[in-house]
Amino acid sequence: MLSYRHAFHAGNFADVLKHLILIRILEHLRKKNKPFCCIDTHAGPGQYALDKDYALKNREFENGISKLWQRGDLPDCVAGYLNIIKQFNNSERLTRYPGSPLIIKQLLRTQDRLFLYELHSTEIKLLTAAINKDRRIKAFHADGLHSCMGLLPPIERRGLVLIDPSYEIKSDYAQVTEALIKMHKRFAGGIYALWYPVVERSRIRKLERGIQASGIKNVQLFELGIKADTGAYGMSASGMIVINPPWTLASDMQQALPVLADILGNNGEGFYRIQELAGE
Ligand code: SAM
Repeated sequence: MLSYRHAFHAGNFADVLKHLILIRILEHLRKKNKPFCCIDTHAGPGQYALDKDYALKNREFENGISKLWQRGDLPDCVAGYLNIIKQFNNSERLTRYPGSPLIIKQLLRTQDRLFLYELHSTEIKLLTAAINKDRRIKAFHADGLHSCMGLLPPIERRGLVLIDPSYEIKSDYAQVTEALIKMHKRFAGGIYALWYPVVERSRIRKLERGIQASGIKNVQLFELGIKADTGAYGMSASGMIVINPPWTLASDMQQALPVLADILGNNGEGFYRIQELAGE
């Protein structure tokens, strides 16, 4: 049974990196008039209240979106991310944080489509309510890693698959690599963005090696850490592995990540990594 609820973590430093990259990819896809298709394999509930319940328990957003909220000196792409988050808040006060489904919805045009998958029985209800009947969007109460295969390749022949698991079980790491390889075989031209947490560094090394061994080309990794790797409980860093990234993504991250590491890092311990896992 699934127990993970992303609301406990909404708007934290990992969400900042994940959603910053998500927005850059969507902005790239919007540059051409041709329709695109988005698949979000682990959608979550769609949006989060930062002023009540779960989010207030650990207040993780305070070392994430809150630290960026009032700043006017951010690199362009981070300012663009902030601008999208501001569109979900009616006042100067930060009370609401959009999840990946609502961020994608915000950037979807009339010609584009979005498919969402969520396994948790409460989260799927919240998700269905959050997307609020939109003919461009379909949400399924199903396993995203398996069920989305049937959509690949999408008729648009261009688009993004976002894979954002909660890694509740250790086998999730192997499962995502396997699924990614299968997806890429069906739709080699697609953009894929896989999120990972650094809780145990050895798992991430294995994940990277698995992707490199697959022979998939054009893979970049972007990681943001708030403290050095540690054996202690909790996530010290997180990253996104992007297959077929927009060509400007690495230079955007080159500007954004040093600034984010500085603002969000614990006592000067923040760090980042930009690495090509496989060339074109
Ligand atoms: N992408 C969301 C966002 O940006 O707001 C957060 C997603 S959260 C990290 C992961 C979600 O995946 C959880 O809501 C969990 O219930 C769901 N989940 C776990 N395994 C799944 C699977 N195999 N298929 C679909 N959803 C799954």
